[in-house]
Amino acid sequence: MLHKNFKNIDRVVYGRGSFSQLPEIIEPVRKENNRYFVYVIDSFFENKIGAKELNSKPEDLIYYIDVNPHEPTTEQVDTLRDEILSKKGLPSGVVGMGGGSIMDIAKALSLMLTNPGSSTQYQGLNLVKVPGVYHLGIPTISGTGAEVSMTAVLTGPEKKLGLKCDYTVFHQVILDPELTATVPTDWWFYTGMDTYIHCIESRYGIKNNAFSLAYGNQALELCRDVYLNEGSGKTPENDDKLMVASLMGGLSLTYSEVGVCHALSYGLSKVHGTRHCYANCIIFQHLEDIYPEGVREFKAMLEKNNISLPRGLSKTWTEKELDEMAAVSYNLPFMWHHAFGDNYREIATPDYIKSLFRRL
Ligand code: NAD
Ligand code: ZN
Repeated sequence: MLHKNFKNIDRVVYGRGSFSQLPEIIEPVRKENNRYFVYVIDSFFENKIGAKELNSKPEDLIYYIDVNPHEPTTEQVDTLRDEILSKKGLPSGVVGMGGGSIMDIAKALSLMLTNPGSSTQYQGLNLVKVPGVYHLGIPTISGTGAEVSMTAVLTGPEKKLGLKCDYTVFHQVILDPELTATVPTDWWFYTGMDTYIHCIESRYGIKNNAFSLAYGNQALELCRDVYLNEGSGKTPENDDKLMVASLMGGLSLTYSEVGVCHALSYGLSKVHGTRHCYANCIIFQHLEDIYPEGVREFKAMLEKNNISLPRGLSKTWTEKELDEMAAVSYNLPFMWHHAFGDNYREIATPDYIKSLFRRL
């Protein structure tokens, strides 16, 4: 068996106020290429973080991106790349500041600035041939682990699939929990539960190992502090913890794998546009037979934080939609393999997957 040779982030800075170190961190990189930086920032920060707060240079380009109409798309990244190159040529680097959507846009943009053609050509494993430009991530919501992962998930005309390779990983991340203070409570819950589900799925499957468990167990403990134990709730102290949990949950799944909830989540997002973390929550509540302890604890967290999730969604879905969703999920065999073991093909049939969708 070939073991994963994981490319980790080159450098990490963590702590309240560490965002202020950004200019100093990127200064040495400014001599590269056409000597300017591109910032892609979640539009939530449009009137809050500008050139002054970033301490950017007049030659830099700042883009505020609204991630709400849809999750990042291949077309969106290609268009942005074309615009940047035609304006100013190859930048020294890309800084992404926002949630998982912006992390993915920044990672994909960095790759597409140096790789020709459309990003749809690179959706998959190790299809990117040339390293991208320097890229730095500043997460402002904790949970997805996109800050540490090897993939930049994009929705294309055919697939929702990541550009996954060593070059995707950030050169640097700045983890400043202060930036997550403004996250609304419902999203704080859904995105944090993405971390929780990463750890449960990583643990309950054949690819778990001492390495993935060590990260996963620690991240689970942090999630319990944030959502369940005494002192839980959206406090600065818990924001500090959740940012670390997100990173560790990401590392846990990297050394293991995600499972049934994520496989279904991709199908739900692709067909109905449901956002990743929210989709996971909607699905996970119905998987008690597969992840009994995890779902029980998840439900306790729901109750503790007064979160209610929709049910009965599948009543309005057509057979065609169910087929489409099942096809997307079925095409993630490594997740089913991890969850169900070597004879997963006998269990995770398209009919079975459809039956799981009917539970929603
Ligand atoms: P997001 O980036 O989609 O943002 C969700 C919402 O939170 C947006 O409205 C945004 O404006 C807002 N927001 C962000 N920071 C805020 C702040 N500090 N205060 C107030 N509002 C803020 O959220 P997400 O759930 O982190 O990311 C989901 C995306 O991540 C999906 O596109 C999914 O495909 C992707 N993802 C990627 C990976 C990976 O490994 N690359 C893993 C999981 C999910
Ligand atoms: Zn996830």
